[in-house]
Parts: sequence; C-alpha cells; structure tokens
Amino acid sequence: MNWKRTLLFVVFWSVIALAIQYRWQTSLGWVALSLATGLLLVIRRRHAERVARWILAPDDEPHPDVGPWDDAVASLYRRIRDQIATIQELEETSTSAMAAGQALPVGVVTLTTDLQIRWFNLAAEKQLHLLPEHDLGQNLQNIIRAPTFAAYVKSGNWSDPLTLKINHASGNYSLLLRLVPYARDRTLLITRDLTQIEKLETTRRDFVANVSHEMRTPLTVLAGFVETLRDAPEGALSASQREQYFGLMSEQAQRMQALVTDLLTLSDLETSPSAEFTAVPISPLIETARSQIEALSAGRHHWEWQIEPTLNLAGNASELASAFSNLLTNAIRYTPDAGTIRVKWQRQADGRASFSVTDTGIGIASEHLPRLSERFYRVDRGRSRALGGTGLGLAITKHVAMRHDALLDVQSKLGQGSCFSLVFDNARVLRNPLPTSP
Ligand code: ADP
Repeated sequence: MNWKRTLLFVVFWSVIALAIQYRWQTSLGWVALSLATGLLLVIRRRHAERVARWILAPDDEPHPDVGPWDDAVASLYRRIRDQIATIQELEETSTSAMAAGQALPVGVVTLTTDLQIRWFNLAAEKQLHLLPEHDLGQNLQNIIRAPTFAAYVKSGNWSDPLTLKINHASGNYSLLLRLVPYARDRTLLITRDLTQIEKLETTRRDFVANVSHEMRTPLTVLAGFVETLRDAPEGALSASQREQYFGLMSEQAQRMQALVTDLLTLSDLETSPSAEFTAVPISPLIETARSQIEALSAGRHHWEWQIEPTLNLAGNASELASAFSNLLTNAIRYTPDAGTIRVKWQRQADGRASFSVTDTGIGIASEHLPRLSERFYRVDRGRSRALGGTGLGLAITKHVAMRHDALLDVQSKLGQGSCFSLVFDNARVLRNPLPTSP
C-alpha cells in the first residue's frame, strides 16, 4: 500500500466514522478507525522487521514478502545481487592475477614510490630471503643493503638492470634487479636469479678450455715432428727413425680425429631433436659390436656373452650402437690382459631391458662415480689418453640413454671391476620377435 492509498484508507474510514457518529450519535466508528490504523501500524512494523532480518541474512537469501515495500525491496535485492556478482568477478580476477604473479619464475615485489614493500611473490621471497610476516611494509633498502643498490635507487635511472652479488649463509649467487615505476604511485622490483645462466656460462667456458687443451697436446706433438722432419739435414734421419716419427704423427692425428668425431656426436645428440624411433633388432646390433670389439681385444680378454635374441627396442639404431660400443670399448681399456668381460642383454624381472657390461678391471673409487658422465671427466687423465680415450664416451652414452628413456647405472669397486648398465624403460621394450632382413 503506497502513501496515497494509505491516506485514502484513513480518509475513507474517517468519513465512515463521521457518518456513524452523525447517524447513530455513537463514537463506535472512531473506535473502528483507531483499530484499523493500529492494525496497519502493526503490519508495517512486521514488514520493517522482516526487511531488517533480510538485510542481515546471507547474500543469496531471496527478499521477503513485505507487502507495500515489495517493489522497493525487490529493486534493492536486484542491485545487491548485481553488486555481489561484480565483487565475485573482481575477486576471481584478482585471485587469478595473484596466482599468476606467484607462479612467475622471476621475482616480483610491489612497492610504494618510497620503496615500502606492499607484496611479493614466491620467487622474490626465495631470491631476496624475504619473510612475509616481517618484511611487508619494510623499506626495500633495509632489506637490500648493498651500496650499489642504494646508488642505483638514488640515480633514478632504472632503464638498465643492476647485477647484484648476494652473499647469504645458504650460498653466494648473483641477481639481476630492475626497478620499474608503474601506475601513479607504485614501483615494481623485478629480480632474476642468474645462478643457472652463470653455471651454463662456466660449463661453456670449461668446455672450450677442455677442447682446446685436448687439441693442443696432439697438435704440439704433430707440429714438433713436422718441424724435425722439415729441418733435419739430408741423411740425418734413418729410414726407421722416419717411420717411427710418421707412426707417432699418425697416432696423434687419429687422436684428434677421435676427439672431433666424439665432439660432433655429442653436439648432434645435444642439439638435434630425438630421431624417429623405429623397431631396432638388438641382437644383430650386438653381434656387429661383438665382432669389432673382440678383434680389438685381440685375445687379451676372456669374453662371455649372454644375449636374449628376441628382446628388442624402439629406438635409434645408430645411437644405440654408439652407446653399446662405448661401454664395450671402456671395458677393454680399463681391464688388464687376461681379465674377464661379461656382456648381458636381458629382460629384468620388472619388465625393463638391460644391456650390461661387467669387467674385472681396475674399478673406480666411489667418489668419482657421480661425475663419470660429465664431459671430459676422467679418473686418470694420463691413462685414458694413453689408451686412446677422449673423455667423452660416457657423456655420449648418457645422452643416448636420456633420449631412449633409459638409465645409465654404474656399479664399481676400486681394484675389483665395474658394471655399466643401460636400463631401458618398459615402454621402449618390444617383446615380439622382429622380422629379420634376409
Ligand atoms: P674415456 O674416453 O676417458 O674412456 P669415458 O667418458 O668413456 O672417457 O669414461 C670416463 C672415465 O670413466 C674414464 O676416463 C675412466 O676413468 C672411467 N671409466 C669408464 N669406464 C670404465 C671401466 N669400465 N672401468 C674403469 N674405469 C672406467
């Protein structure tokens, strides 16, 4: 009932009351009017209470039936619902923005213009060793106290990043920092951990140094002999001496050739995408390696072969051949004459397939085992070189293993021998005999 209808109601009942009083000389009409008005007030009061209760009820509670206030309450209800929807949308947007900020691999710190910390993500927490409960609200310059950072802040020239060495109890590392003003009164600090990049750079530098070092020795020897042969007066060198010199030169040339071949193989494995896998019949591949390796061993070792002929792999034949032959060659290199070398290609109880080469050779002390597959890592550099090793064989084997979902496992005891195994994942193993080419 709106105000006009209420007024009409009161006027109507007043007229009735007047008419009753006039006709029957009684004030009963006024009593009725008072009762009706009282009733109206009670109903209004109830409506007001319902509205008050509804306002305090949960957001999704539909609005109550409140008679004359229905329209007003309904439009209030609609407005509230619209506002709730907008707030929910904003909450979702801000939650997903915060989650994205947290997941960023770079550190992000939001700051006021005078560099008070407002928020930071996980990467920044880790890189700057921030404590959420302690450092929010702190000035960034109290956290990063390096004078270079203070100078960077003061300069106001933040277009270039600043590299900062962080010395922390957990270790020293470098961070790349950059301040970026945004909005009207905010600043962003972006941090990037350079540890990985520096590690890669060190590896690259070591690699170049190693390759140069490996090349320098044979080149020096070669250059020496070339000079001797060129400068020796006519008849100063006997035929046998010349032959010996050429033999040594050829040995050095072969060493360089082996090194370059291994470097190219390694670079191919590291840079080219995995080759298409095909069904590789493994036993013929091992047979080929066997004839070559036994020729190389030339009866100096005792060989035992245990090959499962129907066990095959999905893989790349030439990569597998290179990995197998590296393990076999090493067994020859590091097993003294009369030693035994046992080669097994078999399916394990867990369904995986393993190619293992066990020797009774010199063995390896345990501290070297984790580093064996690093490029140019050798337990005994002199011995490896003397035996024609390049220091890259196991690095190549490890790469082939990774490209075939295989593990390179090494068990060894100093002075007793070693067992190198390539263990291929179930998914790579082909159990059915493959058709052999005629
Ligand atoms: P290398 O060309 O020097 O043999 P590898 O990468 O093949 O290089 O092997 C790295 C090092 O691991 C070798 O220098 C050697 O010290 C050690 N090693 C590899 N295989 C054996 C083995 N069967 N017995 C003992 N030591 C081995």
